[in-house]
Amino acid sequence: MLGKMMQWPLLVSRIFEYATQFHGEQTIVSVCAGKSVFRYSYRDFGLRVCQLANALQAAGVKPGDRVATLAWNDHRHLELYYAISGIGAVCHTINPRLFPAQMEYIVHHADDVLLFADPTFSELIAPIAAKAPNLRQLIWLGDEDLPRSDVRTTSYEDFIAGHSDNIEWPALDENAASSLCYTSGTTGNPKGVLYSHRSTVLHSMAVTGANALNIGLHDAVLPVVPLFHVNAWGIPYSALLNGAKLVLPGPKLDGESLYTLMAAEGVTVTAGVPTIWLALQNHLRDNQLQLRNLKRMIVGGSAAPRSMIEYFEEQQNVEFIHAWGMTEMSPVGTVCKLKSHLINRDRDTRSEVQVTQGLPVFGVEMKLVDDDGQVQPHDGEAIGEVWVRGPWITCGYYEDAQADEGKFDRDGYFRTGDVASFSRDGYMRICDRSKDVIKTGGEWISSIDLENAAVGHPLVAEAAVIGVHSEKWAERPLLVIVPRDPGTPPTLAAMHDYLADKVPKWWLPDAMEVVAQLPHTATGKIQKRDLREQFRDYQLP
Ligand code: AMP
Repeated sequence: MLGKMMQWPLLVSRIFEYATQFHGEQTIVSVCAGKSVFRYSYRDFGLRVCQLANALQAAGVKPGDRVATLAWNDHRHLELYYAISGIGAVCHTINPRLFPAQMEYIVHHADDVLLFADPTFSELIAPIAAKAPNLRQLIWLGDEDLPRSDVRTTSYEDFIAGHSDNIEWPALDENAASSLCYTSGTTGNPKGVLYSHRSTVLHSMAVTGANALNIGLHDAVLPVVPLFHVNAWGIPYSALLNGAKLVLPGPKLDGESLYTLMAAEGVTVTAGVPTIWLALQNHLRDNQLQLRNLKRMIVGGSAAPRSMIEYFEEQQNVEFIHAWGMTEMSPVGTVCKLKSHLINRDRDTRSEVQVTQGLPVFGVEMKLVDDDGQVQPHDGEAIGEVWVRGPWITCGYYEDAQADEGKFDRDGYFRTGDVASFSRDGYMRICDRSKDVIKTGGEWISSIDLENAAVGHPLVAEAAVIGVHSEKWAERPLLVIVPRDPGTPPTLAAMHDYLADKVPKWWLPDAMEVVAQLPHTATGKIQKRDLREQFRDYQLP
Protein backbone atom coordinates (compact mmCIF):
# COMPACT_ATOMS: atom_id res chain seq x y z
CA MET A 1 0.00 0.00 0.00
CA LEU A 2 1.29 3.45 -0.85
CA GLY A 3 1.18 6.29 1.62
CA LYS A 4 -1.14 9.15 0.89
CA MET A 5 1.25 12.05 0.82
CA MET A 6 1.79 14.82 -1.69
CA GLN A 7 4.40 14.81 -4.38
CA TRP A 8 6.26 18.06 -3.81
CA PRO A 9 9.38 18.27 -5.95
CA LEU A 10 12.48 19.36 -4.03
CA LEU A 11 13.61 22.40 -6.02
CA VAL A 12 16.19 25.12 -5.48
CA SER A 13 13.46 27.67 -6.32
CA ARG A 14 11.50 26.41 -3.30
CA ILE A 15 14.38 27.30 -0.98
CA PHE A 16 14.40 30.73 -2.60
CA GLU A 17 10.66 31.23 -2.22
CA TYR A 18 10.64 30.13 1.39
CA ALA A 19 13.64 32.28 2.33
CA THR A 20 12.42 35.47 0.67
CA GLN A 21 8.83 35.06 1.86
CA PHE A 22 9.45 34.19 5.51
CA HIS A 23 12.86 35.66 6.23
CA GLY A 24 12.72 38.70 3.95
CA GLU A 25 14.22 41.03 6.56
CA GLN A 26 17.34 38.88 7.11
CA THR A 27 20.66 40.27 5.87
CA ILE A 28 23.18 39.21 3.24
CA VAL A 29 26.57 40.88 3.53
CA SER A 30 28.98 40.78 0.62
CA VAL A 31 32.56 41.94 0.23
CA CYS A 32 33.09 42.67 -3.45
CA ALA A 33 36.50 42.61 -5.13
CA GLY A 34 38.19 45.97 -4.48
CA LYS A 35 35.03 47.44 -2.97
CA SER A 36 33.64 48.19 0.43
CA VAL A 37 31.05 45.99 2.07
CA PHE A 38 27.67 45.71 0.35
CA ARG A 39 24.59 44.61 2.28
CA TYR A 40 20.95 44.02 1.51
CA SER A 41 17.97 42.04 2.76
CA TYR A 42 16.82 38.60 1.55
CA ARG A 43 13.84 40.52 0.14
CA ASP A 44 15.97 42.80 -2.04
CA PHE A 45 18.18 39.89 -2.97
CA GLY A 46 15.00 38.13 -4.13
CA LEU A 47 14.00 41.00 -6.40
CA ARG A 48 17.39 40.94 -8.11
CA VAL A 49 17.33 37.14 -8.50
CA CYS A 50 13.98 37.46 -10.31
CA GLN A 51 15.37 40.21 -12.54
CA LEU A 52 18.37 38.06 -13.37
CA ALA A 53 16.21 35.01 -14.07
CA ASN A 54 14.09 37.05 -16.49
CA ALA A 55 17.24 38.45 -18.09
CA LEU A 56 18.64 34.94 -18.57
CA GLN A 57 15.45 33.80 -20.25
CA ALA A 58 15.45 36.91 -22.46
CA ALA A 59 19.03 36.05 -23.44
CA GLY A 60 17.74 32.71 -24.71
CA VAL A 61 18.92 30.48 -21.86
CA LYS A 62 16.86 27.29 -21.93
CA PRO A 63 16.37 24.53 -19.33
CA GLY A 64 19.43 22.29 -19.31
CA ASP A 65 21.77 24.96 -20.76
CA ARG A 66 25.01 25.37 -18.87
CA VAL A 67 25.74 28.89 -17.61
CA ALA A 68 29.24 29.36 -16.24
CA THR A 69 30.49 31.48 -13.37
CA LEU A 70 34.06 32.50 -12.61
CA ALA A 71 33.51 34.41 -9.41
CA TRP A 72 34.28 34.99 -5.73
CA ASN A 73 31.95 34.51 -2.79
CA ASP A 74 29.83 37.63 -3.23
CA HIS A 75 26.19 38.61 -3.63
CA ARG A 76 26.13 38.51 -7.44
CA HIS A 77 27.48 34.97 -7.43
CA LEU A 78 24.73 34.03 -4.95
CA GLU A 79 22.11 35.63 -7.21
CA LEU A 80 23.44 33.53 -10.10
CA TYR A 81 23.12 30.34 -8.05
CA TYR A 82 19.41 30.86 -7.55
CA ALA A 83 18.44 32.44 -10.87
CA ILE A 84 20.25 29.93 -13.12
CA SER A 85 19.01 26.82 -11.31
CA GLY A 86 15.58 28.37 -10.74
CA ILE A 87 14.83 28.60 -14.47
CA GLY A 88 16.03 25.02 -15.00
CA ALA A 89 19.47 25.86 -16.40
CA VAL A 90 22.68 24.48 -14.89
CA CYS A 91 24.91 26.70 -12.78
CA HIS A 92 28.42 25.68 -13.76
CA THR A 93 30.91 27.10 -11.27
CA ILE A 94 34.47 27.22 -12.61
CA ASN A 95 37.37 27.06 -10.18
CA PRO A 96 39.69 29.94 -11.17
CA ARG A 97 42.61 28.24 -9.44
CA LEU A 98 42.67 25.42 -11.95
CA PHE A 99 45.45 25.37 -14.49
CA PRO A 100 44.56 27.21 -17.74
CA ALA A 101 44.55 23.97 -19.74
CA GLN A 102 42.07 22.43 -17.27
CA MET A 103 39.77 25.46 -17.52
CA GLU A 104 39.89 25.32 -21.30
CA TYR A 105 38.99 21.64 -21.18
CA ILE A 106 36.12 22.32 -18.78
CA VAL A 107 34.38 25.10 -20.72
CA HIS A 108 34.68 23.06 -23.87
CA HIS A 109 33.34 19.93 -22.22
CA ALA A 110 30.51 21.74 -20.41
CA ASP A 111 29.64 23.72 -23.56
CA ASP A 112 28.62 26.82 -21.62
CA VAL A 113 26.34 29.34 -23.34
CA LEU A 114 27.01 32.34 -21.07
CA LEU A 115 29.93 33.18 -18.82
CA PHE A 116 29.61 35.48 -15.80
CA ALA A 117 33.09 36.51 -14.69
CA ASP A 118 34.57 38.74 -12.04
CA PRO A 119 36.83 41.39 -13.64
CA THR A 120 39.71 40.19 -11.43
CA PHE A 121 39.82 37.12 -13.69
CA SER A 122 40.02 39.11 -16.94
CA GLU A 123 43.33 37.55 -17.94
CA LEU A 124 41.85 34.07 -17.85
CA ILE A 125 38.99 34.87 -20.19
CA ALA A 126 40.40 35.02 -23.73
CA PRO A 127 41.88 31.48 -23.86
CA ILE A 128 38.89 29.84 -22.22
CA ALA A 129 36.31 31.76 -24.26
CA ALA A 130 38.09 30.58 -27.40
CA LYS A 131 37.46 26.97 -26.34
CA ALA A 132 33.72 27.31 -25.67
CA PRO A 133 32.10 26.66 -29.06
CA ASN A 134 28.67 28.04 -28.16
CA LEU A 135 29.53 30.84 -25.78
CA ARG A 136 27.21 33.71 -26.69
CA GLN A 137 28.08 36.38 -24.18
CA LEU A 138 30.43 37.34 -21.39
CA ILE A 139 28.93 39.25 -18.49
CA TRP A 140 31.29 41.05 -16.10
CA LEU A 141 30.37 40.87 -12.44
CA GLY A 142 31.12 44.52 -11.81
CA ASP A 143 29.81 47.85 -12.97
CA GLU A 144 32.82 50.03 -13.62
CA ASP A 145 36.29 49.81 -15.19
CA LEU A 146 35.26 46.71 -17.08
CA PRO A 147 37.99 44.98 -19.08
CA ARG A 148 37.84 44.72 -22.86
CA SER A 149 37.31 41.35 -24.49
CA ASP A 150 36.86 39.83 -27.94
CA VAL A 151 33.67 38.11 -26.83
CA ARG A 152 30.40 40.09 -26.78
CA THR A 153 30.35 41.64 -23.31
CA THR A 154 28.13 43.58 -20.99
CA SER A 155 28.08 44.38 -17.31
CA TYR A 156 25.95 42.40 -14.88
CA GLU A 157 23.99 45.50 -13.89
CA ASP A 158 23.22 46.31 -17.54
CA PHE A 159 22.31 42.69 -18.15
CA ILE A 160 19.59 42.65 -15.49
CA ALA A 161 18.46 46.29 -15.81
CA GLY A 162 14.87 46.82 -16.96
CA HIS A 163 13.80 43.21 -16.38
CA SER A 164 10.82 42.42 -14.18
CA ASP A 165 11.53 41.61 -10.54
CA ASN A 166 8.71 39.11 -10.50
CA ILE A 167 8.78 35.56 -11.87
CA GLU A 168 6.75 32.38 -11.87
CA TRP A 169 9.38 29.66 -11.43
CA PRO A 170 8.95 26.72 -13.79
CA ALA A 171 7.67 23.44 -12.30
CA LEU A 172 10.77 21.33 -12.82
CA ASP A 173 11.36 17.65 -12.26
CA GLU A 174 13.26 17.41 -8.95
CA ASN A 175 15.78 15.16 -10.69
CA ALA A 176 16.62 17.86 -13.23
CA ALA A 177 20.22 19.07 -13.14
CA SER A 178 20.79 22.22 -11.09
CA SER A 179 24.55 22.75 -10.96
CA LEU A 180 27.81 21.38 -12.27
CA CYS A 181 31.23 21.30 -10.65
CA TYR A 182 34.38 19.76 -12.08
CA THR A 183 36.75 17.91 -9.83
CA SER A 184 40.40 18.18 -10.71
CA GLY A 185 41.97 14.83 -10.01
CA THR A 186 45.72 14.59 -9.95
CA THR A 187 45.68 12.63 -13.20
CA GLY A 188 43.68 12.92 -16.40
CA ASN A 189 41.12 15.53 -17.31
CA PRO A 190 38.80 17.14 -14.76
CA LYS A 191 35.53 15.24 -14.29
CA GLY A 192 32.11 16.87 -14.08
CA VAL A 193 29.75 16.16 -11.19
CA LEU A 194 26.21 17.12 -12.10
CA TYR A 195 24.02 17.86 -9.08
CA SER A 196 20.23 17.71 -9.23
CA HIS A 197 17.64 19.88 -7.48
CA ARG A 198 16.70 16.93 -5.33
CA SER A 199 20.29 16.10 -4.33
CA THR A 200 20.97 19.77 -3.58
CA VAL A 201 17.92 20.26 -1.36
CA LEU A 202 18.41 16.98 0.52
CA HIS A 203 22.10 17.66 1.08
CA SER A 204 21.38 21.20 2.26
CA MET A 205 18.79 19.98 4.73
CA ALA A 206 21.16 17.31 6.03
CA VAL A 207 24.13 19.62 6.54
CA THR A 208 22.14 22.17 8.50
CA GLY A 209 21.13 19.56 11.09
CA ALA A 210 22.25 19.79 14.71
CA ASN A 211 24.72 16.93 14.22
CA ALA A 212 26.37 18.78 11.35
CA LEU A 213 26.67 22.55 10.74
CA ASN A 214 23.75 23.26 13.08
CA ILE A 215 22.65 26.45 11.30
CA GLY A 216 19.59 28.34 12.57
CA LEU A 217 17.75 31.65 12.52
CA HIS A 218 20.15 33.30 14.94
CA ASP A 219 23.33 32.43 13.12
CA ALA A 220 25.55 34.58 10.97
CA VAL A 221 27.28 32.18 8.58
CA LEU A 222 30.52 32.91 6.77
CA PRO A 223 31.43 30.40 4.04
CA VAL A 224 35.14 30.81 3.41
CA VAL A 225 34.94 27.68 1.29
CA PRO A 226 34.45 29.03 -2.22
CA LEU A 227 31.18 29.05 -4.11
CA PHE A 228 33.24 27.67 -7.00
CA HIS A 229 34.16 24.52 -5.07
CA VAL A 230 31.32 22.01 -4.46
CA ASN A 231 28.74 24.77 -3.98
CA ALA A 232 30.54 26.02 -0.87
CA TRP A 233 29.57 22.79 0.91
CA GLY A 234 25.89 23.67 0.42
CA ILE A 235 26.01 26.77 2.65
CA PRO A 236 24.45 29.16 0.08
CA TYR A 237 21.36 26.93 0.28
CA SER A 238 21.48 25.87 3.94
CA ALA A 239 21.87 29.43 5.25
CA LEU A 240 18.85 30.64 3.28
CA LEU A 241 16.61 27.70 4.06
CA ASN A 242 17.20 28.45 7.75
CA GLY A 243 16.85 32.21 7.54
CA ALA A 244 20.42 32.80 8.75
CA LYS A 245 22.47 35.91 8.06
CA LEU A 246 24.92 35.15 5.27
CA VAL A 247 28.33 36.84 5.16
CA LEU A 248 30.17 36.46 1.85
CA PRO A 249 33.88 37.32 2.20
CA GLY A 250 34.87 38.13 -1.40
CA PRO A 251 38.45 37.52 -2.50
CA LYS A 252 40.41 38.50 0.62
CA LEU A 253 40.82 35.39 2.73
CA ASP A 254 43.94 36.21 4.76
CA GLY A 255 43.81 35.95 8.55
CA GLU A 256 43.45 39.67 9.15
CA SER A 257 40.62 40.19 6.62
CA LEU A 258 38.69 37.21 7.94
CA TYR A 259 39.10 38.25 11.56
CA THR A 260 37.97 41.81 10.80
CA LEU A 261 34.91 40.62 8.89
CA MET A 262 33.97 38.05 11.53
CA ALA A 263 34.22 40.63 14.30
CA ALA A 264 32.29 43.31 12.38
CA GLU A 265 29.44 41.01 11.33
CA GLY A 266 29.15 38.91 14.49
CA VAL A 267 29.84 35.67 12.61
CA THR A 268 28.77 32.59 14.62
CA VAL A 269 29.47 29.76 12.13
CA THR A 270 32.17 29.49 9.52
CA ALA A 271 33.50 26.82 7.18
CA GLY A 272 36.74 26.32 5.29
CA VAL A 273 39.89 24.28 4.68
CA PRO A 274 42.72 23.89 7.22
CA THR A 275 45.11 26.16 5.24
CA ILE A 276 42.74 29.09 5.78
CA TRP A 277 42.37 28.39 9.48
CA LEU A 278 46.10 28.11 9.92
CA ALA A 279 46.47 31.66 8.59
CA LEU A 280 43.69 32.86 10.90
CA GLN A 281 45.25 31.02 13.84
CA ASN A 282 48.61 32.73 13.21
CA HIS A 283 46.96 36.13 12.95
CA LEU A 284 44.98 35.66 16.17
CA ARG A 285 47.98 34.33 18.05
CA ASP A 286 50.43 36.99 16.82
CA ASN A 287 48.02 39.80 17.69
CA GLN A 288 46.49 38.26 20.82
CA LEU A 289 42.96 38.48 19.45
CA GLN A 290 39.79 36.66 20.50
CA LEU A 291 36.90 35.54 18.29
CA ARG A 292 34.09 36.72 20.53
CA ASN A 293 30.99 35.64 18.58
CA LEU A 294 32.21 32.56 16.76
CA LYS A 295 30.62 29.36 18.08
CA ARG A 296 31.40 26.71 15.49
CA MET A 297 33.93 26.24 12.72
CA ILE A 298 33.61 23.49 10.17
CA VAL A 299 36.86 22.27 8.75
CA GLY A 300 37.33 19.87 5.88
CA GLY A 301 38.87 19.39 2.45
CA SER A 302 41.99 17.94 4.04
CA ALA A 303 42.75 16.60 7.49
CA ALA A 304 42.74 19.08 10.36
CA PRO A 305 45.85 18.90 12.55
CA ARG A 306 45.37 18.22 16.24
CA SER A 307 47.30 21.36 17.21
CA MET A 308 44.74 23.46 15.28
CA ILE A 309 41.76 21.71 16.88
CA GLU A 310 43.20 22.30 20.34
CA TYR A 311 44.09 25.93 19.62
CA PHE A 312 40.58 26.88 18.50
CA GLU A 313 38.80 24.91 21.22
CA GLU A 314 41.08 25.83 24.13
CA GLN A 315 42.26 29.33 23.24
CA GLN A 316 39.25 30.60 21.28
CA ASN A 317 36.40 28.68 22.88
CA VAL A 318 35.07 27.64 19.47
CA GLU A 319 33.59 24.21 18.73
CA PHE A 320 35.88 22.74 16.08
CA ILE A 321 33.97 20.41 13.74
CA HIS A 322 36.03 18.26 11.44
CA ALA A 323 34.18 17.04 8.33
CA TRP A 324 34.96 14.90 5.32
CA GLY A 325 33.55 14.64 1.84
CA MET A 326 34.28 15.16 -1.81
CA THR A 327 32.92 16.86 -4.93
CA GLU A 328 31.24 13.60 -5.94
CA MET A 329 29.35 13.63 -2.61
CA SER A 330 27.95 17.20 -2.74
CA PRO A 331 30.30 17.09 -0.62
CA VAL A 332 29.44 16.15 2.97
CA GLY A 333 29.79 12.51 4.04
CA THR A 334 30.94 12.54 7.67
CA VAL A 335 30.99 15.14 10.43
CA CYS A 336 32.88 14.85 13.70
CA LYS A 337 30.63 15.72 16.62
CA LEU A 338 31.40 14.22 20.00
CA LYS A 339 28.91 11.68 21.35
CA SER A 340 27.54 12.22 24.89
CA HIS A 341 30.01 9.85 26.53
CA LEU A 342 32.91 11.79 25.03
CA ILE A 343 31.87 15.36 25.56
CA ASN A 344 33.14 15.68 29.15
CA ARG A 345 36.25 13.57 28.75
CA ASP A 346 39.75 15.01 29.10
CA ARG A 347 41.35 17.05 26.32
CA ASP A 348 43.49 14.17 25.07
CA THR A 349 40.57 11.78 24.65
CA ARG A 350 38.47 14.39 22.88
CA SER A 351 41.32 15.36 20.55
CA GLU A 352 41.90 11.71 19.68
CA VAL A 353 38.31 11.58 18.40
CA GLN A 354 38.25 15.05 16.85
CA VAL A 355 41.19 14.34 14.56
CA THR A 356 39.03 11.64 12.97
CA GLN A 357 36.68 12.67 10.17
CA GLY A 358 33.63 11.72 12.21
CA LEU A 359 30.31 9.96 11.89
CA PRO A 360 28.40 9.48 8.65
CA VAL A 361 25.45 11.86 8.31
CA PHE A 362 22.10 10.20 7.72
CA GLY A 363 21.76 9.68 3.98
CA VAL A 364 25.30 8.48 3.36
CA GLU A 365 25.83 4.71 3.48
CA MET A 366 29.43 3.65 3.79
CA LYS A 367 31.48 0.49 3.65
CA LEU A 368 35.17 -0.32 3.96
CA VAL A 369 36.56 -2.71 1.37
CA ASP A 370 40.04 -4.25 1.40
CA ASP A 371 42.29 -5.00 -1.60
CA ASP A 372 40.56 -8.39 -2.09
CA GLY A 373 37.08 -6.90 -2.18
CA GLN A 374 36.21 -8.05 1.37
CA VAL A 375 34.06 -5.76 3.51
CA GLN A 376 36.00 -4.84 6.67
CA PRO A 377 34.64 -4.58 10.22
CA HIS A 378 34.33 -1.36 12.25
CA ASP A 379 36.84 -2.36 14.92
CA GLY A 380 39.27 0.54 14.91
CA GLU A 381 41.90 -1.72 13.34
CA ALA A 382 40.80 -2.90 9.92
CA ILE A 383 41.69 -0.57 7.07
CA GLY A 384 40.08 -0.45 3.67
CA GLU A 385 38.94 1.79 0.89
CA VAL A 386 35.76 3.78 1.56
CA TRP A 387 32.77 3.15 -0.73
CA VAL A 388 29.65 5.28 -0.41
CA ARG A 389 26.10 5.57 -1.69
CA GLY A 390 23.22 7.91 -1.07
CA PRO A 391 20.88 10.48 -2.63
CA TRP A 392 23.52 13.22 -2.93
CA ILE A 393 26.29 11.04 -4.31
CA THR A 394 27.05 10.93 -8.02
CA CYS A 395 25.90 7.94 -10.04
CA GLY A 396 28.23 8.77 -12.95
CA TYR A 397 30.37 11.65 -14.20
CA TYR A 398 28.93 14.15 -16.65
CA GLU A 399 29.36 12.95 -20.24
CA ASP A 400 32.39 10.86 -19.35
CA ALA A 401 31.66 7.13 -19.36
CA GLN A 402 35.37 6.35 -19.34
CA ALA A 403 35.84 8.12 -16.02
CA ASP A 404 33.11 5.90 -14.50
CA GLU A 405 35.06 2.71 -15.15
CA GLY A 406 35.86 0.90 -11.92
CA LYS A 407 34.17 3.60 -9.85
CA PHE A 408 30.90 1.82 -9.03
CA ASP A 409 30.19 -1.67 -7.71
CA ARG A 410 27.22 -3.97 -8.33
CA ASP A 411 25.32 -2.52 -5.39
CA GLY A 412 25.65 1.03 -6.69
CA TYR A 413 28.36 2.14 -4.24
CA PHE A 414 30.85 4.78 -5.41
CA ARG A 415 34.56 4.23 -4.82
CA THR A 416 36.01 7.29 -3.04
CA GLY A 417 39.72 6.47 -3.34
CA ASP A 418 40.15 7.28 0.36
CA VAL A 419 41.56 4.69 2.74
CA ALA A 420 40.17 4.64 6.27
CA SER A 421 39.25 2.71 9.38
CA PHE A 422 36.11 2.98 11.55
CA SER A 423 36.16 2.89 15.35
CA ARG A 424 33.65 0.69 17.18
CA ASP A 425 31.81 3.93 17.94
CA GLY A 426 31.43 4.66 14.23
CA TYR A 427 34.04 7.42 13.82
CA MET A 428 35.85 7.26 10.49
CA ARG A 429 39.55 7.97 10.39
CA ILE A 430 40.97 8.73 6.95
CA CYS A 431 44.48 7.33 6.64
CA ASP A 432 45.22 8.44 3.12
CA ARG A 433 44.22 8.68 -0.49
CA SER A 434 44.69 5.12 -1.73
CA LYS A 435 47.52 6.28 -3.97
CA ASP A 436 49.32 8.21 -1.20
CA VAL A 437 49.42 5.48 1.39
CA ILE A 438 52.97 4.34 2.25
CA LYS A 439 53.45 0.59 2.25
CA THR A 440 56.42 -0.46 4.29
CA GLY A 441 57.22 -4.15 4.74
CA GLY A 442 53.60 -5.00 3.97
CA GLU A 443 52.20 -2.59 6.62
CA TRP A 444 50.53 0.77 5.98
CA ILE A 445 51.74 4.11 7.23
CA SER A 446 49.27 7.00 7.09
CA SER A 447 51.00 9.97 5.48
CA ILE A 448 48.15 12.18 6.75
CA ASP A 449 48.69 11.22 10.40
CA LEU A 450 52.42 11.80 10.11
CA GLU A 451 51.93 15.18 8.43
CA ASN A 452 49.46 16.32 11.02
CA ALA A 453 51.69 15.32 13.86
CA ALA A 454 54.68 17.06 12.21
CA VAL A 455 52.91 20.43 11.71
CA GLY A 456 52.33 20.57 15.46
CA HIS A 457 56.09 21.21 15.91
CA PRO A 458 56.62 24.91 16.67
CA LEU A 459 59.33 25.32 14.01
CA VAL A 460 57.25 23.73 11.21
CA ALA A 461 54.84 25.75 9.05
CA GLU A 462 53.77 22.99 6.65
CA ALA A 463 54.63 19.32 6.24
CA ALA A 464 54.15 16.56 3.70
CA VAL A 465 55.11 12.90 3.81
CA ILE A 466 55.65 10.67 0.81
CA GLY A 467 56.91 7.12 0.37
CA VAL A 468 60.34 6.74 -1.25
CA HIS A 469 61.97 3.57 -2.46
CA SER A 470 63.74 1.42 0.12
CA GLU A 471 65.67 -1.77 -0.73
CA LYS A 472 64.65 -3.43 2.48
CA TRP A 473 61.09 -2.23 3.13
CA ALA A 474 59.85 -1.39 -0.40
CA GLU A 475 58.91 2.12 0.78
CA ARG A 476 59.84 4.32 3.70
CA PRO A 477 58.50 7.77 4.67
CA LEU A 478 60.31 10.94 3.66
CA LEU A 479 59.24 14.06 5.57
CA VAL A 480 59.29 17.30 3.59
CA ILE A 481 58.84 20.47 5.61
CA VAL A 482 58.47 24.19 5.12
CA PRO A 483 60.03 25.77 8.25
CA ARG A 484 58.34 28.68 9.99
CA ASP A 485 61.62 30.57 9.85
CA PRO A 486 63.83 29.59 6.88
CA GLY A 487 66.95 30.28 8.98
CA THR A 488 66.09 27.81 11.75
CA PRO A 489 64.54 24.59 10.48
CA PRO A 490 64.31 21.72 12.99
CA THR A 491 66.70 18.77 12.60
CA LEU A 492 65.49 15.25 11.77
CA ALA A 493 66.53 14.17 15.27
CA ALA A 494 64.41 16.96 16.79
CA MET A 495 61.45 15.85 14.68
CA HIS A 496 61.94 12.26 15.83
CA ASP A 497 61.93 13.40 19.46
CA TYR A 498 58.78 15.40 18.84
CA LEU A 499 56.98 12.60 16.98
CA ALA A 500 58.09 9.79 19.29
CA ASP A 501 54.96 9.80 21.48
CA LYS A 502 52.56 10.66 18.64
CA VAL A 503 53.07 7.88 16.09
CA PRO A 504 54.32 4.27 16.20
CA LYS A 505 58.10 4.04 16.25
CA TRP A 506 58.30 2.29 12.89
CA TRP A 507 56.51 5.24 11.26
CA LEU A 508 59.29 7.72 12.09
CA PRO A 509 60.51 9.22 8.81
CA ASP A 510 63.87 7.93 7.60
CA ALA A 511 64.84 11.30 6.14
CA MET A 512 63.75 14.91 6.03
CA GLU A 513 64.05 17.59 3.35
CA VAL A 514 63.55 21.30 3.96
CA VAL A 515 61.88 23.27 1.14
CA ALA A 516 60.76 26.88 0.70
CA GLN A 517 57.26 25.82 -0.33
CA LEU A 518 55.18 22.76 -1.13
CA PRO A 519 53.27 22.25 -4.38
CA HIS A 520 49.48 22.64 -4.00
CA THR A 521 46.51 21.59 -6.12
CA ALA A 522 43.92 24.07 -7.33
CA THR A 523 41.88 23.41 -4.20
CA GLY A 524 44.76 24.00 -1.81
CA LYS A 525 45.72 20.39 -1.11
CA ILE A 526 49.34 19.28 -1.15
CA GLN A 527 50.13 18.01 -4.62
CA LYS A 528 51.69 14.68 -3.70
CA ARG A 529 52.16 13.64 -7.31
CA ASP A 530 54.53 16.58 -7.92
CA LEU A 531 56.37 15.90 -4.68
CA ARG A 532 56.82 12.25 -5.61
CA GLU A 533 58.16 13.37 -8.99
CA GLN A 534 60.55 15.83 -7.32
CA PHE A 535 61.95 13.12 -5.02
CA ARG A 536 61.62 10.23 -7.48
CA ASP A 537 65.21 9.00 -7.27
CA TYR A 538 65.66 9.94 -3.64
CA GLN A 539 68.39 7.95 -1.91
CA LEU A 540 67.63 7.21 1.70
CA PRO A 541 70.67 7.48 3.97
P1 AMP B 1 37.44 17.49 -3.37
O1 AMP B 1 36.57 16.67 -4.24
O2 AMP B 1 38.36 18.39 -4.13
O3 AMP B 1 36.64 18.23 -2.35
O4 AMP B 1 38.42 16.50 -2.60
C1 AMP B 1 37.93 15.42 -1.87
C2 AMP B 1 39.04 14.71 -1.16
O5 AMP B 1 39.64 15.56 -0.17
C3 AMP B 1 38.58 13.51 -0.39
O6 AMP B 1 38.43 12.37 -1.20
C4 AMP B 1 39.70 13.33 0.63
O7 AMP B 1 40.82 12.68 0.07
C5 AMP B 1 40.09 14.77 0.92
N1 AMP B 1 39.42 15.23 2.14
C6 AMP B 1 38.29 15.94 2.27
N2 AMP B 1 38.02 16.20 3.56
C7 AMP B 1 39.01 15.63 4.28
C8 AMP B 1 39.30 15.52 5.68
N3 AMP B 1 38.55 16.09 6.62
N4 AMP B 1 40.41 14.82 6.04
C9 AMP B 1 41.20 14.25 5.13
N5 AMP B 1 40.99 14.31 3.80
C10 AMP B 1 39.90 14.99 3.38
